[in-house]
Amino acid sequence: MWRSAPCLRASTSKTGARCAMRRGTGLCKSFSRVAVEKNGLVQVHRTFVTTPSRWSSTAAVLKQAADTSSSTNAPVSADLPVSRIDDRQVLVGWDVATWSRYHHIWLRDHCRCSQCFHPITKQRLMNTFEIPPDVKPLHVESKPDGLEVQWPSSKPHTSFFPWSWLRQNSYDPQLIRASTTEKILWGSKILQDPPTVAYEEVMAEDEKGLFKWLSNIDKFGFCFVTGVPPTPEATEELSCRIGFIRETQYGKFWSFTSDLTKGDTAYTTLALGAHTDNTYFTDPCGLQLFHLLSHTDGSGGATLLVDGFYVASILKELHPTAYSLLSRIRVPAHAAGELGSLYTPSPSAGYPVLRHVDGELIEVRWNNDDRSVMNHLEPSEVEEWYDSIRKWYKLLTSADSEYWVQLSPGTAVVVDNHRVLHGRSVFDGKRRMCGAYIGIDEYRSKLAVLSEKFTPDTITRETMSYAGVNGRSVWHPAL
Ligand SMILES: [Zn+2]
Repeated sequence: MWRSAPCLRASTSKTGARCAMRRGTGLCKSFSRVAVEKNGLVQVHRTFVTTPSRWSSTAAVLKQAADTSSSTNAPVSADLPVSRIDDRQVLVGWDVATWSRYHHIWLRDHCRCSQCFHPITKQRLMNTFEIPPDVKPLHVESKPDGLEVQWPSSKPHTSFFPWSWLRQNSYDPQLIRASTTEKILWGSKILQDPPTVAYEEVMAEDEKGLFKWLSNIDKFGFCFVTGVPPTPEATEELSCRIGFIRETQYGKFWSFTSDLTKGDTAYTTLALGAHTDNTYFTDPCGLQLFHLLSHTDGSGGATLLVDGFYVASILKELHPTAYSLLSRIRVPAHAAGELGSLYTPSPSAGYPVLRHVDGELIEVRWNNDDRSVMNHLEPSEVEEWYDSIRKWYKLLTSADSEYWVQLSPGTAVVVDNHRVLHGRSVFDGKRRMCGAYIGIDEYRSKLAVLSEKFTPDTITRETMSYAGVNGRSVWHPAL
């Protein structure tokens, strides 16, 4: 059915993210700058940069700006941003058309000298509440590396802010909005070239393979690891490359056969439709790693993966009302198959299927089997809500969305449980599976550390010389 569908365009979100997609071949021309379709994948670029022609100011412009300044008495050189003070803000002129304004109290609060900010622990030392509300610098000066600000104080105090840090954190206007990464949305055609890394690469000490693995998870929401020794021990070691294993009611590192040792359909031979795990948790596990160790005396049990973000983008395009309902209506859920535990999320009304922050889709939660009573719908919403989940289900289970793969011992898979849904077909015989959950924060932390190491961003590179004793600068963009 998708081949006859018109060129689809996902709308521009609040943050400016937009994606274009088209099923079949070719590219939607009007969006060619933001999306590239390759092998049926839609590549969505999510880095938004407004780039004024920084550092290219002419001497005349700077001189003019300096002349109009009331408080700058620093000599200004042609290749430095201009700085001046007004009543409430410090103004930094990057070029003739681009000025950033920083409130005095904001600058004072963000001082990163060693008295105000601990260079090792990267924690604030100064007491924000001792800053006079009407604090105003005595003097500002454009230095080659950044802005120097002198504050009135019984003890003179000087702050210094690198130019790249000031640009990165300019909020009036916002100059740079760097989203984390690009996401590549995918459908069933991902089977032609699924993201894969080799076990030896991931386990290598140089961490390059580990970075590749985590970057793939970040982009695609899943990644295979091939050549894994088919043992629980090797698989556990692999999981621990990312971070701590998150212990749940199913254990820490789990290994099981289909014997219903736990009260969950995962422990049966039944088919499982595409779902995310832990919809009954307040914070569902971030990553799930699983590895089929053996399958004897039977067949079936293919693995199903579906990109929830891809399906959501199609739902948004084709059925915007359904999309908005799934983004708004909370869905309660429970895990109650074990007498010793009874899990429901907080708040107990649960979370929407499509969870957004600032207009951006950040999480898909979907497990229709674990859904609890929908007793909080407005009477007028009931039929519309069922109609909406029917539309969602139809897209989720379409041949265009479903990626089926028959895994064999030696290939593990990691799934971003906040984005990619998983399932399996019915099977017979005896299957031994093992795996683990890893928290989203542990995974993001490891990815951030490896990004710092292998692909440092501009501000990290430019402030490297201010690195603290433990190798991380106080100007790191995450601080
Ligand atoms: Zn300070």
